Amino acid sequence: MSERTLIKSKLDAATAIHDEVLPAGEGWIHAVKKGETFRIVDLDGNQAADTLIYNLHDFSERYSALDTINSQGNIYLTTGSSLVSNLGNELMRITADTCGRHDTLGGACAAESNQVRYAIEKRYMHNCRASFMAALMSWGHEKRDITSNINFFMNVPVTPEGKLTFEDGISEAGKYVEMVATMDVAVVISNCPQLNNPCNAYNPTPVRLLIWGAHVS
Ligand SMILES: [Zn+2]
Repeated sequence: MSERTLIKSKLDAATAIHDEVLPAGEGWIHAVKKGETFRIVDLDGNQAADTLIYNLHDFSERYSALDTINSQGNIYLTTGSSLVSNLGNELMRITADTCGRHDTLGGACAAESNQVRYAIEKRYMHNCRASFMAALMSWGHEKRDITSNINFFMNVPVTPEGKLTFEDGISEAGKYVEMVATMDVAVVISNCPQLNNPCNAYNPTPVRLLIWGAHVS
C-alpha cells in the first residue's frame, strides 16, 4: 500500500508547449489533449496541488477516486497509476514521479471544513473549493461539477484504526509528478491556500505547470 515508485522524466522543460508558474492559492483550468504530457512541479516543497480531471468534451465524465482506487488496489498514486473516470475509462496515466506519494482521500479544503477542523474564525479563509468553483465557472460549469479530487504532493496516511491524518509532506523543492493524457481532458487545479495544516508546511508556495506536445517522448 505504501510503495513509492520513483521514476524521472526524460522530457526537457525547454521543449514544453506550455510553461507557467501558478502562485500559491490560485486556481487554474486548462485543456490537455490526448497524447500530451502534463507535469506539476512542487517548486518550493510541501505544497498541495488539489486537482480535478474531466473529459474535455463532456464534463459529466470526470476523475473518480473510487474507480481509480478500485482499479489499482491502492489508495495512493504514483508512477504507473491510471487515473480512471466515473465511466471506467482512463483519463490520464502517471508516467513519472519523483515524490511518490499522492493522496486520493483527503478531499479539498472548504469554508465548512476550515471551521470544523480549525476554528469558527477560519471560515472566511481562502479555500480550494472556492478556487475550483471560480475555475469551473470561467468555462461555464457549476457547483455540481466539483467532484472528488487528487491531492498531488499531499501526505495523508491512513492509521491502523482507519483514520486519516494530515502529516508533514514528503515532497521537497523541485519534486514533480508527470502524466500523459489518454483522452482529451480538462485539468483544474487549486494550488491550495491552506495555512492551518502541514499539507502546505503552513506556508503555501507556487507550483510550475508544463505541457509537452503529443509527439515528444
Ligand atoms: Zn486546500
